[in-house]
Amino acid sequence: MNHTHLQHAPALPSSQDIDAWRLDAACAYIGDPDVFFADIQDVDRVRSARMVCRTCPVNDPCLNDALNLAKVDDLGIRAGTTTNQRKHLRLQRMWRCDQEHVDRVLGGIRGVLSAAERDLAVVRAVDLGLSAERLASALRVTPKYAREKISEERKARLHDAATDPDQPCISQLGAA
Ligand code: SF4
Repeated sequence: MNHTHLQHAPALPSSQDIDAWRLDAACAYIGDPDVFFADIQDVDRVRSARMVCRTCPVNDPCLNDALNLAKVDDLGIRAGTTTNQRKHLRLQRMWRCDQEHVDRVLGGIRGVLSAAERDLAVVRAVDLGLSAERLASALRVTPKYAREKISEERKARLHDAATDPDQPCISQLGAA
């Protein structure tokens, strides 16, 4: 199979509808782009593709782009990683939970949140008194959905407080 137009590194830098980082992709300018899709058993070719990535200036966006693809569309060598390595990275990302990262994304910095971090974003939005619009933007959901999540979290907190055995209950307060 001949890949003349790589998904991750288009060979036509003048194309208008591609992410800007792709124009700097080292693999867009090599003579044998098929090497990035070599049979995984072909150790020499896979290794040489990975070597190209080592000096590529757009490793980070390339990897991020690959991890955001559906698994079936994520093929070949990307950012020096094999599909198996990216499977591991996906699993790590799924369970990563970094509060500073969550706060940055809630603050408007572009970034991908793991499943755990999406839940934490709701918690932090309530902690910080953020608007549903701000949460919606971080989670890339509708403001209505974000409002529901904030409301659920607030209700759950009220319930937790009301049923906390270490706290006096309302009827006890009344009797005191
Ligand atoms: S990191 Fe590798 S696969 Fe990604 S754009 Fe650069 S050379 Fe191509």
